[in-house]
Amino acid sequence: MKLDVLAFGAHPDDVELSVGGTLAKLADLGHRTGVADLTRGELGTRGTSRIRSREAQAAAEVLELKTRVNLGLRDAHLQDTSAARLKVIERLREFRPGLVFAHHWDDPHPDHVAASRIVTSACYLSGLEKITTAQPRFRPDRIVYFRQASFPVPSFLVDISGFFEQKMRAIGCFASQLHDPGSDEPRTYLSVPEFLPALRALNRHYGSLIRTSYAEAFHTREALAVGDPVAFFASSRKAASP
Ligand SMILES: [Zn+2]
Repeated sequence: MKLDVLAFGAHPDDVELSVGGTLAKLADLGHRTGVADLTRGELGTRGTSRIRSREAQAAAEVLELKTRVNLGLRDAHLQDTSAARLKVIERLREFRPGLVFAHHWDDPHPDHVAASRIVTSACYLSGLEKITTAQPRFRPDRIVYFRQASFPVPSFLVDISGFFEQKMRAIGCFASQLHDPGSDEPRTYLSVPEFLPALRALNRHYGSLIRTSYAEAFHTREALAVGDPVAFFASSRKAASP
């Protein structure tokens, strides 16, 4: 199956939290989107891998993904190894996405840092003829990186004003991870009642930077090429004024 965009997250729900609105928007624009979770989140403080797998499929439907796969790597032990890279290469060659979303390389969670390295290396290596898999070689056009905190300054912002509530519905599918007054499971970063309002505020903040209601942030390592600066800045001005 050919995809236009493939988003790699270390744990089920990472992609929703960071770029769920952009994936909803891209599906609405007619692009074929997919998610590959590197682990099942089996060592997460709350929930179980079975619950998280059900939640991930429910969120995939909300975001209208064409596919969601799990690479089955070890939660909390993610390492940039040849075996891990090969699992990512196989999915890149299977889905042939022009654009890849991955974790930012600077992140407090070690699994997120490892996921960023694994996916970045795999995107390069996937283009090499002599690394053989069932499918022929393939290299995506570009990797862009997502990060949940508000720094550093993003390379670009995607206006998700019309898609923010759909993003929140997708995140709401991960009930095992979120605040539940009836739960006696241990508290986590996501399970406190302040988490979802803070996420809303973060996307609001990003929106304010481009004078729109909500946005999501992306980072690139390379400079972005602009063919026609007049047309580019006219269209980004239009995108920024609803
Ligand atoms: Zn994570």
